[in-house]
Amino acid sequence: MIIDAHVHLPTTCNGISFRQKKEQLLHEMANNHINQCIVISDSYPVSDIGSVDDCVTLFEGDDTVHVVGGISPLCNYQEQIVKLKKYLERRQIVGIKLFTGHEKFYLTDERLKQVYELAIQYNVPVLFHSGGPNSKYSQVLSVIEVAKKYPELRLVCCHCFYPYLEQCMSAIETQNVFFDISSIADDISIIPAISNMLKRIIEKAPSRVVFGSDYGGCSQRQHIEFIKGLHLEKSVEEGIFWNNAVEVYQLQ
Ligand SMILES: [Zn+2]
Repeated sequence: MIIDAHVHLPTTCNGISFRQKKEQLLHEMANNHINQCIVISDSYPVSDIGSVDDCVTLFEGDDTVHVVGGISPLCNYQEQIVKLKKYLERRQIVGIKLFTGHEKFYLTDERLKQVYELAIQYNVPVLFHSGGPNSKYSQVLSVIEVAKKYPELRLVCCHCFYPYLEQCMSAIETQNVFFDISSIADDISIIPAISNMLKRIIEKAPSRVVFGSDYGGCSQRQHIEFIKGLHLEKSVEEGIFWNNAVEVYQLQ
């Protein structure tokens, strides 16, 4: 049983409809024996990966595909807050995503208080982008700062500060920080080093590591094989592939 807790609608064939992108995603899930997934929308109203409205509409009534809604303090912020609240109220989204680094705002930005409080109110996690060339916007000290300021909040670190996974170790004692491994198995040439670091993280926090692939941009199969290749204890592997995501996202 596998939940891919980090996918997007594919952008490889732009020009096709969202319905066709949905078909591609479902096809990929079936090929890789993925039972459920979490689709993360963009934070902007018009996007190739779909806005929160696009994704919620597309997957309405589908029990196997859950949606996380993106939001940005840089774009129609108050309007987006109202919209996310409506979707949270109706349980149509299971989390909120901040594209720190892709967008130029910090995880500690005071404006995000509204997002953190909304997530706590509806008992959903806040996901944030980490690593990459603009990693300063969600560097590990700011992650710890936010997690400590909002102890009831579940914060999901997407990409584990890739390629600098060792940074996760600084946040490992902060119990409300979770680690989503999406995209980290993308570059095969550094897999041995990445494997070693991930194993250390899993050893310290086996219930706080969640499987994700970043499908749409990265390979689902490669990420599944990467986790299987770690040869973890069965219960730990099952946690990463399934139970941990059920807990973090409160899936039924
Ligand atoms: Zn992603």
